[in-house]
Amino acid sequence: MTLPLDTAQLQALDRKHHFHPFSDNKALGQEGARVITRAEGVYLEDSDGNRILDGMAGLWCVNIGYGRKELADVAYRQMQELPYYNSFFKTSHPPAIALAEKLVEVTPAHLNHVFFTGSGSESNDTVLRMVRRYWDLQGKPGKKTIISRQNAYHGSTVAGASLGGMKPMHAHGDLPIPGIVHIQQPYWFGEGGDQSPEEFGLQAAKALEDKILELGEDKVAAFIAEPIQGAGGVIVPPSTYWPAVKEILARYDILLIADEVICGFGRTGEWFGSQYYDLKPDLMPIAKGLSSGYLPIGGVMVGDRVADVLLEKGGDFNHGYTYSGHPVAAAVALENIRILQDENIVETVKAETAPYLQKRWKELADHPLVGEARGVGMVGAIELVADKAARTRFDDQGTTGTLCRDFCFKNGLVMRAVGDTMIISPPLVINHAEIDELIEKAVRCLDLTF
Ligand code: PLP
Repeated sequence: MTLPLDTAQLQALDRKHHFHPFSDNKALGQEGARVITRAEGVYLEDSDGNRILDGMAGLWCVNIGYGRKELADVAYRQMQELPYYNSFFKTSHPPAIALAEKLVEVTPAHLNHVFFTGSGSESNDTVLRMVRRYWDLQGKPGKKTIISRQNAYHGSTVAGASLGGMKPMHAHGDLPIPGIVHIQQPYWFGEGGDQSPEEFGLQAAKALEDKILELGEDKVAAFIAEPIQGAGGVIVPPSTYWPAVKEILARYDILLIADEVICGFGRTGEWFGSQYYDLKPDLMPIAKGLSSGYLPIGGVMVGDRVADVLLEKGGDFNHGYTYSGHPVAAAVALENIRILQDENIVETVKAETAPYLQKRWKELADHPLVGEARGVGMVGAIELVADKAARTRFDDQGTTGTLCRDFCFKNGLVMRAVGDTMIISPPLVINHAEIDELIEKAVRCLDLTF
């Protein structure tokens, strides 16, 4: 749908009535929002007709790219057949049943149940209740605390933001809620000091053990983590981190929640980030790439250990959302997974696209403004620095990143700024010529910023 208005008129209307998420609405009102009107493949078009390469796949979600008519057709058919029903109170419907079966097929073998939600945040609210219920049913009601990491992102609901470790989010609404604590993130570039990445990875893992010992293992229910922290700045953990964390969790019998809202559905070159890092999560929140963002849907994949207890001994699970497993969203997600499978998209990412993207992306480390270029699969980050050797920033305000991001947008590229860390997460279907264009535009914008 396009309103028959020009950009200035759209911006004026937007300013008047639209309260934007994660935006300074006053500043935005003065500047005017960028109005995106269409998209195809990996390109967006704005209300002035500019073509912009979407280096972020929307919000890390449009894995199969824009404009896939098959998804629209499926949604149209499902809306006519059964636009809405739910799976509360002993009911179900074919799209939810079929999607559950498909998810069990594509996720790791020990994940044999899914609880549907409408988003990643709702998925993380769900895991909080599941882990506490699990330990209650196991006769260990004291095991309530969930350990997360500073600067993690697990969503924007009260529980999601509490599980997340973002201070500016905690500042709104007195978060985190009780029973959630945060430990050091495995962010070598920012916090590793003089240690090697491997040494620092072990230190960051030890922070988990220290916290378990401080709280008492009989108080700790679970550890939640993104396999690769996304919104925190594409923080790729050092190679020593996950193996040490796995060992610690096993030693103290703590559940692992792998938040795969970004890493899931091919982003790392494996179907799931847990496969990339050889993790066996007890609970696995998913969303975003599940429908490639075409409709809102999320879920929690529940491992056998937890499902056996919740389903066998749990009685009523007093939790659910009106749109849990919404039939149209479920049908679209199913079609999205069909496309991922039939077109070998994840396999192509692993064999061809990701190696090429990473090779080209890491060339950016030669730029005078870049202190580090890192990435895995189809995510990447570059650190903007005043001094490469000392890894020092220009300031603590993210001014350089904001400048660079704005140059990018004006020059036809979406690249996100997390402080002075620039990040990408393009659609998985981006081709080599489009990757070349992304890199050329990124270099041009770095030159403008420097
Ligand atoms: N978990 C992770 C790792 C995310 O990156 C996000 C969103 O970016 C969420 C949860 C929240 O998902 P949603 O915005 O769909 O609620």
